[in-house]
Amino acid sequence: MFPRYLINFDCKTHLCFDFIIIGTGIAGMYSALHLSEHGRVLLISKDNFPAGNSIYAQGGIAAAIDEKDSPTLHLKDTLSAGAGLCDIKAVKTLVEEGPVHIQNLLKMGVPFDRSSKKISLTQEGAHGIPRILHAGGDATGKVVCKVLSEQLQNKANVEILKNTMAVDLISQANKCLGVLVLTQEHQPNVIYARAVILATGGIGQLYEKTTNAPGVTGDGIAMSVRIGARVADMEFVQFHPTMLNSEKLRGFLISEAVRGEGAVLRNHNGERFMPKFHPLADLAPRDIVTRAIFTQMLESSSQVYLDATGFAKNFFKSRFPTIYNTCTSLGIDPSSDMIPVTPGAHYLMGGVKTDTWGRTNISGLYACGEVACTGVHGANRLASNSLLEGLVFGYRTAKAASLEDTSYDKSNIESLNYTKQKTKKLDSQEYDKLLKQSMQENVGIIRDAQDLKKHLNLLQMVFPFLDHDLQSKEGIEFQNKVIVSYMVTQAAMARNISCGAHYRTNSLPKDKSS
Ligand SMILES: Cc1cc2nc3c(=O)[nH]c(=O)nc-3n(C[C@H](O)[C@H](O)[C@H](O)COP(=O)(O)OP(=O)(O)OC[C@H]3O[C@@H](n4cnc5c(N)ncnc54)[C@H](O)[C@@H]3O)c2cc1C
Repeated sequence: MFPRYLINFDCKTHLCFDFIIIGTGIAGMYSALHLSEHGRVLLISKDNFPAGNSIYAQGGIAAAIDEKDSPTLHLKDTLSAGAGLCDIKAVKTLVEEGPVHIQNLLKMGVPFDRSSKKISLTQEGAHGIPRILHAGGDATGKVVCKVLSEQLQNKANVEILKNTMAVDLISQANKCLGVLVLTQEHQPNVIYARAVILATGGIGQLYEKTTNAPGVTGDGIAMSVRIGARVADMEFVQFHPTMLNSEKLRGFLISEAVRGEGAVLRNHNGERFMPKFHPLADLAPRDIVTRAIFTQMLESSSQVYLDATGFAKNFFKSRFPTIYNTCTSLGIDPSSDMIPVTPGAHYLMGGVKTDTWGRTNISGLYACGEVACTGVHGANRLASNSLLEGLVFGYRTAKAASLEDTSYDKSNIESLNYTKQKTKKLDSQEYDKLLKQSMQENVGIIRDAQDLKKHLNLLQMVFPFLDHDLQSKEGIEFQNKVIVSYMVTQAAMARNISCGAHYRTNSLPKDKSS
């Protein structure tokens, strides 16, 4: 149904590494650190280094490190947020192995925030106990990624290629052999390896309103589909309830930890509304808070606010410096003004189907981090479980990939070429905008069969773009978005009941509380 490769190429020479990791977020970097003990590693990022969503993570990392906490309690909260669809083996792996990797980060020198020498733990939605470690107040991702990237730069076995886009995976007889890339100079090049690890992150940029970084366009999932790798749970897209609603700055997140510290949601009349929707009120699971805000905004055609004005003087500024500085630069002082918020596409629970060792159904192809679907999040991710996922499954994937066979025969693909893509110049920009609008309206927070069908009709219109060599990073990203959008829409049509983050108006939620 989709073309095998998105660009035409004729590669007579190639590079060779032991391992290729596509993506320099937390999952890719952590995995690279461990794989570097086993051979030469090439880390590829189509953007800068580090890049992706990891550096924007604010709230923190969930892990059962407190004496009052335990992996069993963390398991219970994760399963409950996942609305009955979590893979229990994957969740057990996450919560039981998580604390070891936190220790590892501490050994590497990650300066988690402390109060009187003890690591500070905060609470977030649907966690029964404070268990979120944070750093730099609300700059956890940036702080952790800085330490990981410094560690990597000291590894002689690791090479980092920035501004290099992975376009497609090279395979033969159900074995992944390498990656087709577009170099910084826009030249196609083939790089072989005994194992390829996808760590390309999520799909937020398929939507008009998103908290995600600009390059988060689902490339790894689309590449996997073209090579025949299985994807799963694509209907489960998490919308974060509280993205700053501002025309001046799009996509800025107001961390859930702000509610964890006591802020509450209010409607345009200044009334709290979450207690009506769930016993945990403002700290209910994300899907519930998101739908409550969405419904409030729709029914009253007006704004919803996050109210942190009750915090002690200067607390907001010291606990959430990034959010405080951003809000004040826009004329909103969180200590005296309520913050206008709206939901935004945030995280994909689905992705490339893997086991708990990152293995896909294609030999030699692995996936970890947000691009992968181990089933650990079920139908709805528990807040702050994804940085932990990047560590736990990034490490396991590296371990499994290190055992990959060293003897593969690439003799008959030494000179690889493909010429089937049409070369007529097409501009995808306008269609990209349409695609994002339609995803937001028709495949968004609340879905019904008619709207999903409407979106499929739009996709039919843009499918012809897939047969063209669009010759630009943006063009390839658009093509990937079209493929991923199709996977999300098909999955959303197939699941005609509501569950977790996937809400269909024509059915009752499986769990009455949601
Ligand atoms: C604003 C925000 C706040 C968040 N806060 C938290 C939090 O507090 N706690 C938490 O647990 N989670 C949080 N999350 C979610 C979490 O940050 C992500 O799920 C996680 O960082 C994903 O990590 P990753 O390594 O899988 O991917 P990413 O960090 O997204 O990295 C993807 C990488 O892949 C590269 N890439 C993609 N496609 C290609 C290609 N074709 N070729 C080459 N390179 C490619 C990108 O350049 C990038 O380097 C937050 C997310 C956002 C957006």
